[in-house]
Amino acid sequence: MGILVKNISILGATGSIGQNTLDLVLKERDKFNVVGLTGSDNIELLAESAIKLKADVVATANESKFHDLREILKKYQIEVCAGVTGVLEVASRQVDWVMSAIVGSAGLLPGLRALETGANLALANKESMVAAGPIMKKVAKMKSAKLMPVDSEHSAIAQLIRGEERDSLSKIIITASGGAFRNLTKAKLIDVTPDQAAQHPNWNMGKRITIDSASLFNKALEIIEAKEFFDLKSSDIEVLIHPQSLVHAIASFCDGGMKAHIGPPDMRHAIAYALYEEKRFNLTMPEVNLAEVGTLEFEKPDMSKYPALELGYEVLAQGGLAGAAFNAAKEEALDNFLDRKLSFLGMADVVRATMDELSSKNRLSSEVEIEAVIDIDLQARSVAKKFVGKY
Ligand code: NDP
Ligand code: MG
Repeated sequence: MGILVKNISILGATGSIGQNTLDLVLKERDKFNVVGLTGSDNIELLAESAIKLKADVVATANESKFHDLREILKKYQIEVCAGVTGVLEVASRQVDWVMSAIVGSAGLLPGLRALETGANLALANKESMVAAGPIMKKVAKMKSAKLMPVDSEHSAIAQLIRGEERDSLSKIIITASGGAFRNLTKAKLIDVTPDQAAQHPNWNMGKRITIDSASLFNKALEIIEAKEFFDLKSSDIEVLIHPQSLVHAIASFCDGGMKAHIGPPDMRHAIAYALYEEKRFNLTMPEVNLAEVGTLEFEKPDMSKYPALELGYEVLAQGGLAGAAFNAAKEEALDNFLDRKLSFLGMADVVRATMDELSSKNRLSSEVEIEAVIDIDLQARSVAKKFVGKY
């Protein structure tokens, strides 16, 4: 019997998750046929990856890079597309499996398009679940497509509850390393810079998620992502600071038993679990040496130091379009922090002010339909912009 080849595409192939996915595909090259890859500014890496993986089609989201990308690939039989439509074109190609690893809300429509084709979707782009979880789940169900988490905590939860009766799960705990500033007091956070925030103690990730890890905006997105993936209530989801980043999640059951997922802080574990669709792949990773680690610490996060997490819980409870507005306001605040127009702590102030304004105008309670998600995303960005100068 021949090997069953899986047709795959990687959206956000030039990023940290994208390149880790590529690395796994190359380990078992004959099992995968790579159809499409997308990137944005880094067209050299996009072209190199497409040549290495013999992709059929590539897209750069950055339209101005189209000619250069086509020039680099002119000797190869690789179709080249560009812009938002180019990325959607790649996502529309019929494949068995797609990695959704574009950063930010730009990943929503391409991931959704991939699900619409009926492909199984490995979802690293948590922003899609936060902004439009009900839509993602509805389309996946309609198309009988698997929607699989790639975020390490959510992959861990999926692994922990597998084989358990859903009703027996009483709570989940997701962990946070505390990011770059875990040991700083709130007072010391006032003048931290984007470069300092972009240093993660344990994980090697893209810049935006690394800064979101330091503010705990990332964890705020993740509790909402957990609610959507596993149909949980706010009171069922707890966050604990765990500096070692070895326990990714804990599931608590009705009989008092708890299961914890332990693994190295390496995203290839969670990516492989999604790539092989819940089967284990021999990754030959160095195993965690618990005797050497000695101690696993857990502590409750100080909500006054991490206002983003407190906001995340409010958004989770609010539901409706609050997730989409929250994510968009957070992206706008982060852009301004990166441009040094807003302080690190100012990001949560801007997002809170934005959410308060949109709530008071009753803009967040509509049904989660795609047009409404896109509209509230734009509104939230424009309201957030207005508040930037004030903090
Ligand atoms: P990176 O910044 O490393 O990569 C982002 C990817 O998206 C790149 O391919 C980039 O292209 C592309 N991109 C950027 N802007 C756009 C746009 N406007 N339209 C289309 N494509 C675009 O991010 P990560 O890999 O760290 O994260 C990807 C997603 O995975 C995020 O949603 C993140 O939250 C999630 N995630 C990441 C983890 C990690 O370990 N990195 C862990 C858990 C979740 P280019 O570089 O060519 O400009
Ligand atoms: Mg995570």
